[in-house]
Amino acid sequence: MIPFEEAHSFVLSSIETLRPQTRRINDALGSVAAEDIVAHEAVPGFANSAMDGFAMRSLDTLSPPTRLRVVATTLAGNAPASRVSQGEAVRIMTGAALPDGADCVCRIEDIHVDDSSGEIVVSSVIATGDCVRQPGEDIAVGDLLVAQGDVMNPPLLGVVASQGRDSLLVYPRPRVGVLSTGDELAEPNVELGPGEIRDSNRPLLTGMLQASGFDVVDLGVALDDYDATLALLEAATQTCDAVISTGGVSVGDVDHVKSAILALGGPRARWMQVAIRPGKPFALGVVGPRATPLFGLPGNPVSTRVSFELFVRPALRRLAGHRDVDRPRFRAVLDEPMARSSDGKLHVVHVEVCVDGDARLRIERVARQGSHLLKGIAGANALALLPDGAGAAAGESVDVVLLDEIRVREMNS
Ligand code: AMP
Ligand code: MG
Repeated sequence: MIPFEEAHSFVLSSIETLRPQTRRINDALGSVAAEDIVAHEAVPGFANSAMDGFAMRSLDTLSPPTRLRVVATTLAGNAPASRVSQGEAVRIMTGAALPDGADCVCRIEDIHVDDSSGEIVVSSVIATGDCVRQPGEDIAVGDLLVAQGDVMNPPLLGVVASQGRDSLLVYPRPRVGVLSTGDELAEPNVELGPGEIRDSNRPLLTGMLQASGFDVVDLGVALDDYDATLALLEAATQTCDAVISTGGVSVGDVDHVKSAILALGGPRARWMQVAIRPGKPFALGVVGPRATPLFGLPGNPVSTRVSFELFVRPALRRLAGHRDVDRPRFRAVLDEPMARSSDGKLHVVHVEVCVDGDARLRIERVARQGSHLLKGIAGANALALLPDGAGAAAGESVDVVLLDEIRVREMNS
């Protein structure tokens, strides 16, 4: 058996980030930027009004009330209106360029119009810069707007667009093929024959992949036949950016996936017995000229979940160009003891964590364990990592990997 950390670094060191491609901004949410983007246009590009109101000279307003003559109206999109001279104002709408001579805007709500003369009356001092958006206030020319490795979130998409661009260079969202293997797997909507079971792993993996922002290619089911498995996996590595297969990687009589991955990856393949439970058998081959990673995960659904979370998801995030590939890891206090026996392995236990009134993470519930007990882990939102030994007592802390949202526990419960 090899330690978890060694297997984890082997997996990550095998992965090459995908070749960048140009993507439309509207399709780039969640992608990782593959270029630095430096501002060549200031935002705002010109001084403009932050309010609907009147542009004027602050100097004119120093002894209120001030009467000003309205000499023009200017709207967003208009070229700057004629100059504002002493005693004058320009009616201005939000976003319109500030006329030359004006240095402040008084809101429409704060103005009184004298109906007899048509003049406006300003009843307070308006300071220079009031209600004016200054050029370059948000973005100055030369600012670094997006750094390679940044994840494109909605504000960043808008920032890139503010430079007059409609696309950017990103690392592609990996297309990940998902294959189940085993003669025992029956199709949905048909009655089970003797010894047959349903395929839980494909929906499980599909969901985990989608939740992590990857595209899924359904590769169906392969029977326990070496040649068929090899052909299917080889074809998949040519059309997908990564391939995940479940089952057939242990030491059983028909565990052909292991042999197929070793054959396809050659010197760039490794089958491992990792010192974790569940998820001990694991295979990775890097296949073909595009260095496509091909993962062989254990067949038991909970083992598949654990291998995916600890090895495959970080690898896929590296493929997609992410800087942080692992899920966040914290310490959490046990509400109840967590017993285990010593077996040389790191135990990976599905748990439910919450945040208590003191903002401490607590492990409220430990899921029923068993690598075949998929329903038992459905409510879990974290994986507790219990080192080899006799377990942990209530009140002790253990490492947890957060998988999902955390409930906040009320103060007095
Ligand atoms: P294997 O490693 O292929 O021997 O599979 C280990 C266990 O996982 C066996 O009990 C299989 O029947 C089960 N298993 C394999 N693939 C799936 C799947 N797609 N869905 C549910 N159980 C599976
Ligand atoms: Mg099998």
